[in-house]
Amino acid sequence: MNRIREVDSVNFTITVEAGAILADIQAVANGAGCLFPLSLGAEGSCTIGGNIASNAGGVGVLRYGNTRDLTLGREVVLPDGQVWNGMRPLLKDNSSYSLKNLFIGSEGSLAIVTAAVMKLHPRPSQVETAYCALPSVDAALALLALARRRSGDVVSAFELMSDFALSIVTRHAGGHAPFSGPSPWYALVELSTSREGDDLRGLFEAILEEAFSEGLVSDAVVAASTEQAKQLWRLRESIPEAQKRAGGSIKHDISVPVSKIPAFIAEAGAAVEAYMPDIRLCAFGHVGDGNVHFNFTQPEGMDKQRFLSCWHAVNDIVHPIATQMSGSISAEHGIGLLKAKEIVRYRSPVENRLMRAIKAAVDPANRMNPGKTVGLESELLV
Ligand SMILES: Cc1cc2nc3c(=O)[nH]c(=O)nc-3n(C[C@H](O)[C@H](O)[C@H](O)COP(=O)(O)OP(=O)(O)OC[C@H]3O[C@@H](n4cnc5c(N)ncnc54)[C@H](O)[C@@H]3O)c2cc1C
Repeated sequence: MNRIREVDSVNFTITVEAGAILADIQAVANGAGCLFPLSLGAEGSCTIGGNIASNAGGVGVLRYGNTRDLTLGREVVLPDGQVWNGMRPLLKDNSSYSLKNLFIGSEGSLAIVTAAVMKLHPRPSQVETAYCALPSVDAALALLALARRRSGDVVSAFELMSDFALSIVTRHAGGHAPFSGPSPWYALVELSTSREGDDLRGLFEAILEEAFSEGLVSDAVVAASTEQAKQLWRLRESIPEAQKRAGGSIKHDISVPVSKIPAFIAEAGAAVEAYMPDIRLCAFGHVGDGNVHFNFTQPEGMDKQRFLSCWHAVNDIVHPIATQMSGSISAEHGIGLLKAKEIVRYRSPVENRLMRAIKAAVDPANRMNPGKTVGLESELLV
C-alpha cells in the first residue's frame, strides 16, 4: 500500500496510499510542478499513514499548516473491519461532523489509515535562506513579524536555536558556526515564492538591513547557493543528534501563543535552573508556530542516570508554566505512551470524558493502540 495513485495539478491534490514514503510524495508532487510542503527530519523513511496518525508538523507549518491542514480525504479501516471511504478531494465539505479530523492525530488508536487525498501548493521558483545572530528571543519574534509584514507573508520557515544548541552541533555533529563570535540566539529564516521575476534575495537583504538598523539582528549570512542553504539547515537539523552525544537530555515539546514565547523561555528556564543549577538549556524549534523543543542537557560531570531520574520532576516544573500560558504539553510529537498518564492531568474532566466516549464508540473492545492519545485507562478510571 505504498502507491501514489494520482496527482491533480489543477485541483492541487495528490492521492496516496498509507505506506507511501513522505520523500517520494514530495518528489512526485515536485515533478508535477507542485509542492507537498510537509517536511521533517524523518521524511526519507516515515510514511504518510504515520504522518497522518501522528499529525506531523515539521518545518513548514508557519506557512502551510500541519498534516491536519494538508489532509482533504481519508480512507480508514475501523476496528470491526468496516471501511470508511472518505476520499473526497474537496476544500469545502460542510456536510456534518468532520470524521476525517477525528482520525488525524489519533496515533492509531481508532482506525488504520489506508489512503488519503493530500493538498498541494504551487512549487516555489525562488527560495532564500538566511542564518541570523540575535540578541534575544524578543528580537527573534520582532524579526519574524517584520519579515512576514515586509515580504508579503512569504516566510516559509523560521527556526530558533540557542547558542548552546549551536555549540553542541559544532562540537559533536561536525557543524561550522557561520559567525566568528557567539550570540545568545540564532534564527534560520527561509523565504520562498512561486512568483517569477521577483527579486526575493534583494527583498530579503532589505528586510535584514532594516532588522539590523533596529537592533533585532547583530549579524546575518544569506546562503549564496543551494549547497550553502543545506549547510545552514544542517545546523538546525543536527541538534537532536548532537544532544544525544552531549549527554543525557530531558525533553519537552511545548507550544504557547507565539507572542508568549519569550516569557515562557524566561520563566520556565529560571524555574528549572532554580531546581537544578548548572543544568544546560538547549532550546530550539519552530517558534514561528509557537513550538519550542525546550530541552535540557545534563550538568557537566553529573551522572547520566541520576540526571534522567529527574525527568518527571523537570516536566512537572515546565508543563504547568506552558499550560498557564494557554499552551500545550505536546505541540507536535503526540502523546504516545510516554505522556499517556501525564496528559490526563492537563485535560479538563470534560475533555477526558469526550476522548473516552469517542474511543469507546469507535473501538469498544479497546483493540487499537490501547492507552495512546486517550490516556491510560488506570488514570481515567480514578
Ligand atoms: C529524525 C526525526 C525528525 C522528526 N521531526 C519531526 C518534526 O519536525 N515534526 C513532527 O511533527 N514530527 C517529527 N518527527 C516525528 C514524526 O512525526 C514521525 O516520525 C512520523 O510522522 C511518523 O511516521 P512513521 O511512518 O514513522 O510512523 P510510525 O512511527 O511507524 O508510527 C507513528 C504512530 O502512528 C501510528 N500509525 C502509523 N501508521 C499508521 C496507519 N497507517 N494508520 C494508523 N496509525 C498508524 C502508529 O501506530 C504509531 O502510533 C520526527 C521523527 C524523526 C525520527
